[in-house]
Amino acid sequence: MSPFVQTIPSNQRLPESADVVVIGGGMAGSAAAYALSKKGISVALVEKGNIGGEQTSRNWGWCRQQHRDLRELPLAMKSLEIWGELNKELGAETGFRRTGLLYVTTRPDDYAEWEAWTLRAREYQMHSHILSPAEAKAKTPGSTQDWMGGIHSPTDGRAEPSLAGPAIAEGARKLGATLHQDCAARGLEMEAGKVAGVVTEKGTIRTRTVLCAGGAWSSLFCRHHGIRLPQASVRSTSFATAAAPEVTPGGLSMPDVTIRRRLDGGYTVGLGGRGVVELSPQGLLYARQFWPTFKKRHEGLRFGIGRSFFDGPEAFTRWGLDQQSPFERHRTLDPAPDPRLMKLGLTKLAEYYPTLANLQVAQSWGGMIDSMPDGIPVISAVDPVPGLYLSTGFSGHGFGIGPAAGRLAADLIAGDPPIVDPHPYRYSRMIDGTNLGAPGMM
Ligand SMILES: Cc1cc2nc3c(=O)[nH]c(=O)nc-3n(C[C@H](O)[C@H](O)[C@H](O)COP(=O)(O)OP(=O)(O)OC[C@H]3O[C@@H](n4cnc5c(N)ncnc54)[C@H](O)[C@@H]3O)c2cc1C
Repeated sequence: MSPFVQTIPSNQRLPESADVVVIGGGMAGSAAAYALSKKGISVALVEKGNIGGEQTSRNWGWCRQQHRDLRELPLAMKSLEIWGELNKELGAETGFRRTGLLYVTTRPDDYAEWEAWTLRAREYQMHSHILSPAEAKAKTPGSTQDWMGGIHSPTDGRAEPSLAGPAIAEGARKLGATLHQDCAARGLEMEAGKVAGVVTEKGTIRTRTVLCAGGAWSSLFCRHHGIRLPQASVRSTSFATAAAPEVTPGGLSMPDVTIRRRLDGGYTVGLGGRGVVELSPQGLLYARQFWPTFKKRHEGLRFGIGRSFFDGPEAFTRWGLDQQSPFERHRTLDPAPDPRLMKLGLTKLAEYYPTLANLQVAQSWGGMIDSMPDGIPVISAVDPVPGLYLSTGFSGHGFGIGPAAGRLAADLIAGDPPIVDPHPYRYSRMIDGTNLGAPGMM
């Protein structure tokens, strides 16, 4: 059920050493590897499955500043600048197009929330346009629905999740990085309390600096080394349609359903705010931290027991560095899509747009959205373990903000002036009790 993702080859030989070992070849790891390589730092990236195989190829492809949590907005704005240059810089297709993104609604609460966000975002020089009912109608030609209003962000865009991660990883390789797929990191080798290497299933790489960008697996990796990282995953459903009439060039969010135009002329359809929280030992461990978020989001969430309870990223498992690890047992997290949500998406689209009444589903998939209690990522050194950095917990935003997140991680590792203030993303907030606020807008 995995969506298509561009395959790229691995480097033949695992290096004996590297300045930095990046664990995880999703958007976070690939973008960091690229930014580090641009600084002339040697990088080995290890990925347990294939580059981009998990969240990075399963997302909707929205690259947005619109409605971002204000703590995250500076990173999102820098990212949109980077996206604008990326195709040219890489000499490769990421699918990025600055199409703008559009939200329309029939719900007064949405409209009030968007108005408030727009006012506050102006302090950051982010200019979105609030739309009256007539303006929202004019921006959705072909729709038979009357809207209460909308919001349009012309500087946002869309990219192709099947292409972008691998293209950025290849960009890193062109600058000297090595890429190793089917190569799980089992754990860290420590000397005198500091990072000294990464033990992978294919051998050990000596290094003083490790960036863990393991997506939904980061908490398990950290737990193995006694590091507390409250993280939870929400299983969500998306699908791609066959080519269909163009009703938007970019992304369009409507009540209960979103669409994003694809390069192949179809749409990626998402069901906003709906998903399944899988009950798991890790979930129970961090339940208190996630309670405020859950209260805010509970309407679209259901609970279920999935594989994670026994043997997935959220299970309590122990292993030795000379033994097969859970990362090798699950090369790619590939949860099943929910047919009820797909039906809801198709029904809503037909209701809003008669021209989209008979969409053919080309492919469907599930994805695990890794989230932090306060809804923003950790991009930071982990002070209790000198040499270890994290770039993880992107809480459903990491595709769009990935390029700037990679740059921030690289700046921190290199000791360069950071691209944005790193304070909101510090790891210490996870352990010093300052992470209890619920997320802002998602
Ligand atoms: C349905 C859905 C829709 C979304 N829509 C959007 C959107 O429109 N816009 C947006 O900005 N974001 C969106 N997101 C979120 C976005 O996809 C993620 O935030 C982003 O891809 C996270 O990137 P990552 O690199 O942190 O994680 P991942 O892409 O999950 O990558 C982590 C990688 O680490 C590897 N790994 C883990 N542990 C190890 C180990 N021990 N050794 C080696 N490798 C390891 C995994 O195999 C994986 O490939 C969406 C997510 C989903 C699921």
